[in-house]
Order: sequence, then structure tokens, then C-alpha cells
Amino acid sequence: MWGYSTLSTGDVQICPKSYAIAKLASGGVFTGVDLVMKDIVKRVFCNVRPPGHHACQEVGMGFCLFNNVALGARYAQKMYGVERVLIVDWDVHHGNGTQEIFYRDPSVFYFSTHQKGIYPQTGSQDEKGDGDAVGTTLNVPIPGGGGSRKAVIRAIDEQLIPAMERFQPQLIMISAGFDGHKDDPIGGFDLETQDFALLTKKICALANKCCDGKVVSVLEGGYNLSAIAESAVAHVQAMEF
Ligand SMILES: [Zn+2]
Repeated sequence: MWGYSTLSTGDVQICPKSYAIAKLASGGVFTGVDLVMKDIVKRVFCNVRPPGHHACQEVGMGFCLFNNVALGARYAQKMYGVERVLIVDWDVHHGNGTQEIFYRDPSVFYFSTHQKGIYPQTGSQDEKGDGDAVGTTLNVPIPGGGGSRKAVIRAIDEQLIPAMERFQPQLIMISAGFDGHKDDPIGGFDLETQDFALLTKKICALANKCCDGKVVSVLEGGYNLSAIAESAVAHVQAMEF
């Protein structure tokens, strides 16, 4: 089709408006950070596309052009002096871009649950950060299929929450992908719609405890339109918690 092409990574289609739209997505996250950091609201859901968590510092990939959540974390640090940011990524895929951007940076903790053995093939338990930042990347790869929902919930209870007692984030961001839903055609997890409400409540409870409730959530993947819509609504409703 006229005007359409593909990035060199081969998995991102772009058109003449892509750059402008990708800037709006990242800018939407900046606005979300502003609203939360200025205490206008406690939580925000940024319903933006394209998604971001596969985008690396210098290259877009996996449907992502700019890493919206990573840019949002840096924006919070630069504009509001936030020292420690937690990014919780429950998209069914590993956020290789977010991990790469903060791999040597102890001020941003990256936690990811994702399906083992699928795109982009990164995110093993052995990837823990580098230099001063060893220990501020926490990957929990989980096999697809039955039991994956329980494993995701357990990872938050048993790995993320204890780690945050040490890290003490001042802002929590969520890479909220809904492709872990059981009806998603790409992901192989078995989360139900209401599980996203449960995950949200756990993260909001953590935020209430360590950072005055501040949560900025950013949409990532999700490829079944009904499942993503219902899950996003459950997510937003549970943020009142
Ligand atoms: Zn995904």
C-alpha cells in the first residue's frame, strides 16, 4: 500500500503518520506522570498505542516505536526528582527494550512476568542487571498453559513484593499488556479478565504502602479486542482500590 513500509527490524509496520502518533503516545505518558506527580490524581491509565516495551534506546521493534514507559520513568526522574522508579511488566512478552535501557541503572527496577520461549526470546532469570544495577532487574519466565495465572500472581506475592521492601520505589509504573488473557490469540497464558483486577489491586496496595499510592499504568500488548477491552476496564476499576 502507498506510504507504508517496515522498520529494519522487520516487525514494525510504519506509515507517514507513525512518528506523530508515537510522539503522542509518549507524550500521553508524560501527561500521566504530570497528573500523578502534581497530586492531581493518584493513579493514571495511559490508553496509548503504539505500545513501547520492546523498543530499545536506538531501535524500534515488536510493534513498538518509542519505549513509552521508559520515557515516562526518565521524565519523572528529570522533571520531579524521583529517585527510584519501579516498572512492573505483566505483558505476556518480555519487555526487552525496557530491560536494556535500565540494565545498568540501579534507579529503575524492572520486574517482568512473561511466557517462556516466545518473542523476543529474552528475559531469563539469569538476566539480573549489570554493574551497580545487579539485582534491579527481576525476570520471572513462566511456561504457557494451565497454571500460568497462578504463577504470575505468585511471582508478584513472593518475588516482587519482598524485593520492594528493599528498593522502596517512589513511583510505580505498569507495562499493562493484556495479551496474557486466556482468549488472546498470541499469548499462551490463562489469565481471566478479573485476574487483571487482582494484579492491579496488588500493585496499588504496594503503591499505597511505599509511594503514597502513585501508579502510572501504560498500555502495552493485547490482540483480542474484547479481551483487551474488558481487561482494561477491570484494570482501571481496580485502580480505585
Ligand atoms: Zn505482548
